[in-house]
Amino acid sequence: MNVYHKSMRIILHRLLLFAIFGTLTGCTLTAATPIASIPPTATTYQVIRATPVPTMARLYQPVATEPTIEPALSADLAPEIDCEQSTDLPTTRHTVDAKMDYATRSIATSQTVTHINRYDSALTDLVLNIEPNRYPNAFTLLSLIQKDTTQGDAPPSFNLTGRRLYIELIDPVPPDCAITLDLLFTVNVPAIGSGVQAFEGFFGYSPRQVNLGHWLPTVALRQNNEWITRQAVFVGEQEVITKADWEVTLTVNNAAETLTVAAPGTVERLSATQWRFVQPFARDFTLSLSENFRVAQNITQSGITVEVYSFDDAVIPTDTGIIDGAEHALTMGLLSLEIFSDLFGPYPYERLLIVQGDFPDGMEFSGIVFVSTNWFRTYAGDPAHFLTLITVHEVAHQWWYARVGNDPALAPWLDEALSTYSEYVFIEEFYPELKDWWWQFRVDDYNPSGFVDSSVYEFASIREYINAVYLRGVRLLQALRDDLGTESFFDWLKRYAETGDGEIVSADVFWSLLTAEQLEATRATRALYLRQP
Ligand SMILES: [Zn+2]
Repeated sequence: MNVYHKSMRIILHRLLLFAIFGTLTGCTLTAATPIASIPPTATTYQVIRATPVPTMARLYQPVATEPTIEPALSADLAPEIDCEQSTDLPTTRHTVDAKMDYATRSIATSQTVTHINRYDSALTDLVLNIEPNRYPNAFTLLSLIQKDTTQGDAPPSFNLTGRRLYIELIDPVPPDCAITLDLLFTVNVPAIGSGVQAFEGFFGYSPRQVNLGHWLPTVALRQNNEWITRQAVFVGEQEVITKADWEVTLTVNNAAETLTVAAPGTVERLSATQWRFVQPFARDFTLSLSENFRVAQNITQSGITVEVYSFDDAVIPTDTGIIDGAEHALTMGLLSLEIFSDLFGPYPYERLLIVQGDFPDGMEFSGIVFVSTNWFRTYAGDPAHFLTLITVHEVAHQWWYARVGNDPALAPWLDEALSTYSEYVFIEEFYPELKDWWWQFRVDDYNPSGFVDSSVYEFASIREYINAVYLRGVRLLQALRDDLGTESFFDWLKRYAETGDGEIVSADVFWSLLTAEQLEATRATRALYLRQP
């Protein structure tokens, strides 16, 4: 790997010298307090149209105390699309107007989803992913309207069960025509749970932070004439999400003046309490809010801004002075963005946000990642630490999730083994003295077993899942690199990133990019690690 990046160590030194730190707030809060656990739910909410144009009243759930919300932005921001449209238009656009009461963590939201039928035949139905509906009382659908049908703007029949909102379209929608849906709903953010529930703290609040990961409806993937929804389990991730363009207007009331909104995309501050974010080419639109964030930022050589949002407890006094984990995370973010851009292709956004998350795991989103508060609070200056590895791991997901999507329930190794192996690639380049440590600490200590190409549904514990998919996964990738040679191996990964860019791909695509000779050279390795070699 050093053959690729002899100059990077110089960049590291320069970045350390020029790390710039932004505003500091006076937070003295402690970390998240675990709060009662929240089991997953699969409550069904169904509306069937009994008449061609039913009244609006039948769509309302019996929740009368929600704040008033107006329809999302329209007109110039969401022009009407007919069936003659250019193929250049994004397949899916989301226009969101969200009004948040920070004190109660309740968000009244209006969302317009415009989805162009890119398939060969007419669509008679559509599925939206509604992740907050997996949590009790977190999601309330107030209204669903299909626009511009033969019956005008009218409510379609739908069924909301767990994360799946199945919509029977009022008219069949031919290929290249657009479907426009207006949704009104409220999101009540749950407290971050304890035990295995704590791992989903990317959608939840602590006393000092509100995290909004997977809080907005997205369009499901359609494969072989079926809309894909994977069953929720506590192991791994199961969200199969197509990419979209996002425009989100956010108003936050009842927050202190020190409120900081960590959100990706281009940002326009409309007023003291209102922001507008535009984020194209993103599977999700995720943000985190706090009245206590410290912000540090810097710019990579290729012009990407990296921002770290952290808390005071990321600053650790040591025998040799003060160590700021946020400074370290910033440097790791800058370096990993540079090396992965070089190896795997361009980073798709102008900014990358790294957020100290009050939950025990890291989590990737489009243009924004969470790194556990545990790693910030225990980093004492030695880079042989999870703060280094998890920051780099989540940045790698910008290629192996945000750019190249995969089915994280059925083929989780495609993003997780690649992101974990990307940690090693980073270590090889910037901390070569830690290479042996990395294999021992990250992989060998767990004596991992299991097929790399397992689904999330095959494991009784998160540990067994990580051992098989992540850890045997990196052994698989190292063995493939040994089979192919370093140059061919990284050429293959780069072509995979290009081929899968913006898509959701299967392992077949990954293997299809090898030549017949390369497949032969890797046959024994594949047989050793994969159920389906
Ligand atoms: Zn990961």
